[in-house]
Amino acid sequence: MASTDMKINVDKEACIGCGTCVALAPNTFNLDAEGKSEVVDAAGDPEVDIRKAAEACPVSAIKIEEVESEVKTE
Ligand code: SF4
Repeated sequence: MASTDMKINVDKEACIGCGTCVALAPNTFNLDAEGKSEVVDAAGDPEVDIRKAAEACPVSAIKIEEVESEVKTE
């Protein structure tokens, strides 16, 4: 079975805690005690939603790396 592991990094120094990523992918991102986004489950939401969250971040604090044997480019 093929599966894509996504490695998601949030730059907490850049994050302004707007909550957009949490709204778009609530099972993946959460605001921590300091109001900064953190990843709670990299596979918590459909990939498309996680990508939307990363794209919607106003400060581009979310970086997604794909970890898979066959690298797809779009
Ligand atoms: S969308 Fe970006 S700035 Fe807003 S909470 Fe998420 S990581 Fe932080």
